Amino acid sequence: MDDSNNLIYLSALQHYAYCPRQFALIHIEQVWADNFHTAHGNLLHERVDSCEPEQRGNVRYERSVAVRSNKLCITGKLDLLEIEGKPATKYFPVEYKRGKPKLEDWDKIQLCAQALCLEEMREVNIDEAALWYWQVRKREPVLIDEALRGVTLAAIEGAHELLASGKTPLPTVHKKRCKACSLANLCEPNTFRHDRTAIYIKGIFEETVGSKTHEN
Ligand code: SF4
Repeated sequence: MDDSNNLIYLSALQHYAYCPRQFALIHIEQVWADNFHTAHGNLLHERVDSCEPEQRGNVRYERSVAVRSNKLCITGKLDLLEIEGKPATKYFPVEYKRGKPKLEDWDKIQLCAQALCLEEMREVNIDEAALWYWQVRKREPVLIDEALRGVTLAAIEGAHELLASGKTPLPTVHKKRCKACSLANLCEPNTFRHDRTAIYIKGIFEETVGSKTHEN
């Protein structure tokens, strides 16, 4: 991947990992809706982003650091970067989240993608990072190991492919996720799940769009 006009935001990767349909609704169809979770998350990030860099002992704390990988075509900001030593010997990214630790990987994927950007930009190796969860006031260490790197690279590739296809996938069955999703009202996952007509109509629409594209 080497197309800098086709950059994907790190936050969008988290959308993709959470649900490819959510990613497509936001980043292909440009639909967006706030709910309590997203509004609260934005507020938390505003507070974190407004802090100044500071030096405490051997560690420098930088906030809201812009990062980018030209190789992977991803860009974004990380909430906090802890830099140990002078000259720097260790880089440690920290991402703030409003909820609590999750079994699923979607927060870790965003964090790992930040680490991949930093590794490319600063020519360093990052073995460890952390997620800080507001709800439980807990900092959870995350190993940037081969397994997480693999899952993250697969998500980056999948997100690029989906964006390039321009097609929004149908909902998958994630009742708990759909309940917390800010797009649940717009997505209408239950309508799609239970009503085959909606799938049929979507198929016809895609065929029509496809044939029009070929005609042009
Ligand atoms: S409501 Fe469910 S299927 Fe629809 S975008 Fe959200 S998580 Fe995905």
